[in-house]
Amino acid sequence: VRNAPPQLWFDGRFVDADAPCAPLTSHAMHYGSGVFEGIRAYATADGGSAVFRLPEHLARMRRGCELLGIAFDEARCTQATLAVLRRNDLRDAYIRPLAWCGAGSIGLDVAAVSQHLMVATFATAVHLAGAGVRLTTSPWRRNPATSLPPLKLCGAYVNSILAKHEARQRGFDEALFVDGQGRVVECTGANVFLVRDGAITAVEHADALPGITRDTVMALSGARARPVSLEELLDADEVFVCGTAAEVTAITELDGRVFGEGPVTRELAQSYRRVVRGQDPARAHWLTQV
Ligand code: PMP
Repeated sequence: VRNAPPQLWFDGRFVDADAPCAPLTSHAMHYGSGVFEGIRAYATADGGSAVFRLPEHLARMRRGCELLGIAFDEARCTQATLAVLRRNDLRDAYIRPLAWCGAGSIGLDVAAVSQHLMVATFATAVHLAGAGVRLTTSPWRRNPATSLPPLKLCGAYVNSILAKHEARQRGFDEALFVDGQGRVVECTGANVFLVRDGAITAVEHADALPGITRDTVMALSGARARPVSLEELLDADEVFVCGTAAEVTAITELDGRVFGEGPVTRELAQSYRRVVRGQDPARAHWLTQV
């Protein structure tokens, strides 16, 4: 890791990561009118580094940008991502691209404001890291897809922040969103799976983010996707969550229901680690060399 302070890529140039760049009148700061991604790069055995499923992350970002009318150039963002990783000399990194509406008007119309793109990198990503995640069902409902589509729109994350804050106040690590019919949706920043009698199920819900890690785990495990009730989740042999930051993480407790040793989860977490680190040649197409 380089000895200089980290830099980020901002509208085509490198700036110190803590330099004040965006005006306080930025539209996104007031209204959440931005779109972000959470991506990771991993050191590979050949001494290099690779970004995991970069095109899929940027395709999802483009969908969010299209909704908000923000122009988004995937090739430019790809180049910025690789450039900032090299600049900061990071092999293992959490990567945060953000496209947002800038200054120009205090009204809601995004057509009246400027548009910006940045890409930041972080040496560590800690979301649900460590042994044993204690989960609780949230009193908050997930943003319904009919009001806020499940994409990585900045403002939408206030919903996750409320749920996380409430769960932490009650002494839990993470919140589980359940809908009005008692069906499982997702966690604040990760998708949910269950294992029962050896069968792996990916929780399916229209209000949940279509996770790239979820897609990866489904491809690796042959898991079937279908709607799942909270009762069924409580009845599972194993529950795990997955996401770019969370990777594959076992749930050890859900509202007092304790889950025992999770051999299926452990094995899947291991295969996921092999894939992202370039140790599974059959999945090499998911890696973009830095
Ligand atoms: N759900 C939400 C709400 C998230 O923020 C994330 C993290 N992006 C996920 C699920 C997992 O998605 P991915 O595997 O693409 O990181």
